[in-house]
Amino acid sequence: MEIRSVEEIQVEGKRVFVRADLNVPLKDGRITDDTRIRAALPTLRYLLDGGAAVVLASHLGRPKGRPDPAFSLAPVAERLGELLGLSVFLAPDVVGPKVEPLARDLEPGEVLVLENVRFHPGETKNDPELARQLAALADAYVNDAFGTCHRAHASTAGMASLFPPDRRAAGLLLLKEIRAFERVLDRPDHPYVAVLGGAKVSDKIGVIRNLLPRVDRILVGGAMAYTFLKAQGIEVGGSFVEEDKLELARELLAQAREEGKEIALPADHVIARDLSAEAETRVTDGAEVPAGWKGVDIGPRTREAYARAVAGARTVVWNGPMGVFEIPAFAEGTVAVARAAADSPAFTVVGGGDSVAAVTQAGLADRISHISTGGGASLELLEGKTLPGIAALG
Ligand code: ADP
Ligand code: MG
Repeated sequence: MEIRSVEEIQVEGKRVFVRADLNVPLKDGRITDDTRIRAALPTLRYLLDGGAAVVLASHLGRPKGRPDPAFSLAPVAERLGELLGLSVFLAPDVVGPKVEPLARDLEPGEVLVLENVRFHPGETKNDPELARQLAALADAYVNDAFGTCHRAHASTAGMASLFPPDRRAAGLLLLKEIRAFERVLDRPDHPYVAVLGGAKVSDKIGVIRNLLPRVDRILVGGAMAYTFLKAQGIEVGGSFVEEDKLELARELLAQAREEGKEIALPADHVIARDLSAEAETRVTDGAEVPAGWKGVDIGPRTREAYARAVAGARTVVWNGPMGVFEIPAFAEGTVAVARAAADSPAFTVVGGGDSVAAVTQAGLADRISHISTGGGASLELLEGKTLPGIAALG
């Protein structure tokens, strides 16, 4: 689908509505990480420098469809003002009579931040009346909130469709996400390796099915490896297994064989008595996990094999950690893959909240071609789904 960039629409002298993802972590009313606010700056600066007035909207946390001071965008507006070097106004509401005059009187170069869109019960229900009121605040619409594009909400898909095509566009951050996923889904260079791990096979079925025809190999790690191993009759001890997905795992392995693709499974493991930092640990000789032990990470031979595959690839997509990386003793497999991806000449895309956290923790994020800002949204794109927030911009 052809999506217009914010750079392709008229913004000078216009009021432009920007839906960003400013859902930053807060502790006692203070922002503990302003990455998401910084990520929104390029689009905002582009618009303000181009002579637009900006009406900015975001959700924050999970308020229950009504105002809740704990989730006010006040700290966000303040931090944004500091970063932009401007005074940024915070509206007292999402829409309505107190907001409309503020939006109307906005001058070019000024920013009005609406209150948390999820203070309004219509946001997550994609209420057409809320979408209409939001759309009435501006002349053009820019979506830069990739992380919420998989939800059809009033401030995403709902209001976008109320603007004519030449007055709706993707922001610079959203565009970068779209381009990266288009590249790995439609125009990948080969060899193409997907690394899939994390908690459950059931979370990644759609991704495996959609990627199998596109990739050369899928390297499986994390807890989901044990469902695949058990499906082949391999002893997995007390490892995490989805018993009701064994048949499905066999189907996926058969699909791979038919398509002449490889689904690689761990050849050895780090095992532990339980999932705690104090637990007794060992490394297995082979793919079996003895009774009384749990697989908690890929073992050294698997680490090396996966790192080699990633090093030799020209496209790498990675979703899901290779082990219980939250515990340092079980993070080596994940770190090895992260390091290999960082060193690889491949175009590398990492998606998924925990995978991104692991890469960031390892200090390797700036050496990955694209770190996705949306866990759920990136999974749905990898599953081959069209995201409503993106489709509505077309
Ligand atoms: P992402 O957020 O990157 O999509 P997931 O949410 O699917 O990843 O999976 C991450 C979780 O999987 C982590 O909390 C990690 O501890 C867990 N995990 C990985 N390997 C194992 C394992 N062998 N046993 C139990 N849990 C695991
Ligand atoms: Mg996760």
